[in-house]
Amino acid sequence: MLVDLHVHSALSDGTDQPEALVAAAGRAGLSVLALADHDTTAGWARAERAATSAGVRLVPAIEVSTTWRGADVHLLALWPDGQDAALQQLLATVRASRDERVPRILARLREHGVMLSTSEVAQAAGSTRSVGRPHVADALVAAGVVADRDQAFHTWLGEGRPAHVAKAAPDLPDAVRVVRAAGAVPVLAHPWGRGSRAVLDPAALAELAAAGVVGVEVDHVDHDPGARRVLAGLAGELGLVVTGGSDYHGTGKAGVALGQEVTRPDAFAALEEAHDALRRR
Ligand code: AMP
Ligand code: ZN
Ligand code: FE
Ligand code: FE
Repeated sequence: MLVDLHVHSALSDGTDQPEALVAAAGRAGLSVLALADHDTTAGWARAERAATSAGVRLVPAIEVSTTWRGADVHLLALWPDGQDAALQQLLATVRASRDERVPRILARLREHGVMLSTSEVAQAAGSTRSVGRPHVADALVAAGVVADRDQAFHTWLGEGRPAHVAKAAPDLPDAVRVVRAAGAVPVLAHPWGRGSRAVLDPAALAELAAAGVVGVEVDHVDHDPGARRVLAGLAGELGLVVTGGSDYHGTGKAGVALGQEVTRPDAFAALEEAHDALRRR
């Protein structure tokens, strides 16, 4: 039983349409796939329809952008009620902040002599409902400014780079409350990946467990074996469920395959139980 609890479609910053993504998951032998687009539920219905014929069980999910102690922290919300008004309001606010950030990024690039238009970004963004730096990166690639997304982040868009602009996002504990109220199971995404390790020390993890976080994504491409070992130990002490996911983005993230990282079946069962309990409240 292969369970991949973290993938993206072209409705955020992945490159596969939901149908193609689910079909590929079926071919890869996955039993369970969580579609966790950034700050949008727009891909769920299409993925759900495709899941039946692909023989894949779809977990509707979201990777919610949040802020914690000044850093970007991503929160996976598994099985939220998509009709929950407070949750959709929170997501709409983050997407609005994403939209208004694009012209500010372009202004920064212009100050550094890189001319890129909003229409070039719109072209790169295509069908997304949640525009982000990866789309600006794709536009920079299309314009011949950089070779790939990674170079775009390292040269221009990443933290501390000349065209970096932060987006406004809810405080992590607030996001945890909202997703739990919507019946979702909150899981910290790649807590010790890019930049967030410093703010997610053991004391912070304990605080967040007390605030209602249920799981931590230990098995993620951004975590080396040492980080996984220590994080899994902390999860055990705090009663947090250890999860894994590929964070697949199609051709948007080189060297990452569907099902490359997985969640153990017993851990998945624990998440399902947590979901049942949250839904019954
Ligand atoms: P944003 O959501 O607009 O703040 O952009 C952050 C997203 O960009 C992350 O969720 C990743 O999917 C992607 N990303 C971050 N760093 C890189 C990188 N170095 N190369 C490619 N994609 C990245
Ligand atoms: Zn992404
Ligand atoms: Fe993430
Ligand atoms: Fe992700």
